[in-house]
Amino acid sequence: MKGSGWIEIICGGMFSGKSEELIRRIRRAEIAKLKVKAFKPAIDDRYHEQAIASHNGRIADAIAIKDAADILNQVDCDTDVVAIDEVQFFQGDIVTVCQKLADQGKRVICAGLDQDFRGYAFGATPTLLAIAEYVTKLQAICVVCGGEASRTQRLINGKPAHDRDPVIQVGAAEQYEARCRQCHEVVL
Ligand code: ADP
Ligand code: ZN
Repeated sequence: MKGSGWIEIICGGMFSGKSEELIRRIRRAEIAKLKVKAFKPAIDDRYHEQAIASHNGRIADAIAIKDAADILNQVDCDTDVVAIDEVQFFQGDIVTVCQKLADQGKRVICAGLDQDFRGYAFGATPTLLAIAEYVTKLQAICVVCGGEASRTQRLINGKPAHDRDPVIQVGAAEQYEARCRQCHEVVL
């Protein structure tokens, strides 16, 4: 339907409840009898292959895809809502895909990290924040001081990661924590 589409983005650090909020919006759309299709990047296979998973254990069915453009092939004319988790990790042009879907009249709900472990803007999320009609920024709880956590601390063998460490490092003994600006550490 022309004129009815828009983009929503849910952003924040790890453990801020992005997936939880995305799943909540999917459930509410389903209660409203809207046709929902959910997607996630194929590389993120923590907990579940074909589902969006929250750290609180809630899941929603999702199609795992590699390239953003594949979303367009999976969405039907009668799809009302397109939900996309981990938007920062898609290969290809996820921004153009979201714009196309919203222009076609679909409600597009994206969730993703706004910052990488160094505190820099992450992938397509900043652009989506700019073009979205609705923006939700969530905070986790800082595991050091108990304050509001806007950042994700990366630890390698228990120590703060180095600024020059690659954002995606396969096979390293690494761990992520929610931290506030003051408790967040990056080794330069
Ligand atoms: P995200 O998608 O942003 O990583 P999730 O939706 O997967 O977040 O997980 C949110 C859940 O994680 C919370 O409801 C809570 O149960 C759990 N959690 C674990 N550690 C923290 C933390 N430090 N701050 C907030 N929630 C946390
Ligand atoms: Zn703190």
